Amino acid sequence: MSRLQQRLSQVQEQIRSFAVSCDRDPTEIRLIAVSKTRPASDIRKAREAGQSAFAENYLQDAMQKIPALQDCGIEWHFIGRIQSNKTRIIAENFSWVHTLANFKHARRLHQQRPETLPPLNVCIQLNLTGEQSKAGILETQLLPLLEKLTDLPHLRLRGLMTMPPATASATQQHQVFAQLKRLRDDMNQQGYTLDTLSMGMSGDMQAAICEGATMVRIGTAIFGSRT
Ligand SMILES: *Cc1c(COP(=O)(O)O)cnc(C)c1O
Repeated sequence: MSRLQQRLSQVQEQIRSFAVSCDRDPTEIRLIAVSKTRPASDIRKAREAGQSAFAENYLQDAMQKIPALQDCGIEWHFIGRIQSNKTRIIAENFSWVHTLANFKHARRLHQQRPETLPPLNVCIQLNLTGEQSKAGILETQLLPLLEKLTDLPHLRLRGLMTMPPATASATQQHQVFAQLKRLRDDMNQQGYTLDTLSMGMSGDMQAAICEGATMVRIGTAIFGSRT
């Protein structure tokens, strides 16, 4: 087994044990391997070890790899900042977008999603801590945005995504993730059917899993540190 494959199975085991330790069913949590900046050869190795979902942030980087890995049956997730002039590339090449944060981008993704593909799965990114540098909408903007998204059948609204500040303590991580789950539950009370909480990275995976994550986005713990 290669080093990468060892790390991948360690992460799978961590997910399982964190879930069990907080009374969750490990099969409710999907591992999304964040492959930004990694070569296609690493992705292929992880794919051969059974990992099927990979996430990319930078479209130029992603579009070097996605065509080269077409034979692998990979499900691609976009987790970078969306730019209006790049929505077509996302709509045509990805199965999921985790970082939707405005209606204009939603409408473009809807219009540009090819009819031959199933609807694009989307999560709304929230900025729950008000950091200026961070993307995502405020809590008060969520319901108005969701109301508008119901008119876009080429998008399938799946859930919410957030990231705590990089410097957050474990307690703060738990607070932020619990808040995202509460928001998701509130929206479902209002009649939405959001099944996804995209939260948890290499440094805060345990808190995210305990607070209800259904997708964790893990890069460093699988592929090593990015240089
Ligand atoms: C890079 C990135 C990750 C993965 O972070 P690691 O700390 O390497 O696990 C997850 N989500 C987003 C949005 C990212 O940009």
